Amino acid sequence: MKKNEISILGSGLIGSLLSIYMKKRGLDVNVYEKRPDNRKGQYQEEGRSINMALSDRGWNALEKAGLKEKVLTLTIPMYGRKIHDEHGKTSFIPYGKEGQAIYSISRGRFNQLLVDEAEKLGVNMFFGHKVEDVDLRTNELTITDANGSQEKIFSNVIIGSDGAYSALRNAMLKQVRFNYKQEYITHGYKELSIPPTEDGEFAMDPNALHIWPRGSFMLIALPNPNKSFTCTLFLPFDGERVCFENIRDEKDVTSIFETYFDDAYKIMPNLKEEYFKNPTSALINIECYPWMLKSALLIGDASHAMVPFYGQGMNCGFEDCFILDELVEKFGTNAWELVFAKFQKKRKKDTDAICQLAMENFEEMRNEVSDPKFLIRKKIEAKLHSLYPKDWIPLYTMVTFSNMPYSEAYAQGKLQEKIMDKVMSSPLISQNWDKLDYEDILYQMDKAKAV
Ligand SMILES: Cc1cc2nc3c(=O)[nH]c(=O)nc-3n(C[C@H](O)[C@H](O)[C@H](O)COP(=O)(O)OP(=O)(O)OC[C@H]3O[C@@H](n4cnc5c(N)ncnc54)[C@H](O)[C@@H]3O)c2cc1C
Repeated sequence: MKKNEISILGSGLIGSLLSIYMKKRGLDVNVYEKRPDNRKGQYQEEGRSINMALSDRGWNALEKAGLKEKVLTLTIPMYGRKIHDEHGKTSFIPYGKEGQAIYSISRGRFNQLLVDEAEKLGVNMFFGHKVEDVDLRTNELTITDANGSQEKIFSNVIIGSDGAYSALRNAMLKQVRFNYKQEYITHGYKELSIPPTEDGEFAMDPNALHIWPRGSFMLIALPNPNKSFTCTLFLPFDGERVCFENIRDEKDVTSIFETYFDDAYKIMPNLKEEYFKNPTSALINIECYPWMLKSALLIGDASHAMVPFYGQGMNCGFEDCFILDELVEKFGTNAWELVFAKFQKKRKKDTDAICQLAMENFEEMRNEVSDPKFLIRKKIEAKLHSLYPKDWIPLYTMVTFSNMPYSEAYAQGKLQEKIMDKVMSSPLISQNWDKLDYEDILYQMDKAKAV
């Protein structure tokens, strides 16, 4: 039987970055991926997001792996949200201070880069190798290759970065006292596109994340380097007037888009074809604990899949890799149980916090951003941040543009939210927001923190 030092399940974004970290620690690293090699042209996204937003926590982890500069060339900065109302009027809400941005990147291209870099370092990548089962008593993997042959592989260490439907987690589920919770939300998503204009340009501002918030549903769009945009339509599956179940033919698609997203509709020539060709995918939140059993560990979406409304799933998974590597650096490569125990203890409260924030942010994205008061609220918080940069940091900034533990960001964000709710309840706030007693708002915050 083949014997591995370390086996990583899944070569998605998290598994491939982790394999780079582990190889750099001098280990013999083997990655098993059930899909074919996506660098060979047969790759299908299978309804997973085509492009995604990379932010500070992700950059931090990439920088430590020496990859920041290479990845930067694949990205497009988005400095804020561009909100489209039902009449096609737009308004811009910056994400942070001037120059702060989140970065749009193609999932497929990014994954290819990480796999290339891993292979250059000497990571053994096995594509078309599906992990069928993991025996946690003997540390044996049962793997089927692309020809259908099965083999058993022993591994000292097993790390499951095999996503929301993890095979390693399935094996852990059979253990006593393993907690597991999964929740599908009411909404699903479908990816669509806005191609470049006839003269080969972006059809909208490329340096923004575009949102068409419509209460119980929304459309968003992120730019791609080929001057197209990938749009994601989030709708309830059923039970509402506008829902996937009620869109049955091209007439329905046209009617929904003309009514609610008319400015986007005009620049989506392939809409009707794409709508029926592209899959409708579900959105899941997964929490489980413990994440380890002896020398096996879950990481990334396998341990904490979240809904995508804070744009943090991948960033959080990259931060997992960063933190795990710090522990390996501290305790060495012969103390895996200790490293894994410390990792899950440190990290669980933070991933719980970001899973919760991701759920809550859905409401903000699809509904609140279209309220003129939301813009005022953001302006007041930006002013507070510029006056007291250390004492008042908007929640979005703490999550997206800092490496503060998510649980601390969550706690501070909740205190700030209460104070801001009070500030916003003044009937004249739209007129006098600039003349507020900002020092008093900070005083309220200090008082709340002291309790
Ligand atoms: C619509 C949408 C938009 C998103 N946008 C963002 C965003 O803007 N920013 C952000 O940070 N995050 C975003 N996310 C979240 C992000 O996609 C995930 O958090 C991230 O991809 C998790 O990476 P992973 O490597 O843990 O899992 P995955 O990407 O799921 O990778 C798991 C890998 O394991 C392989 N695998 C699975 N089972 C097996 C098996 N039995 N044997 C072998 N291999 C196996 C799979 O083929 C896959 O390659 C979004 C998610 C969605 C759904």
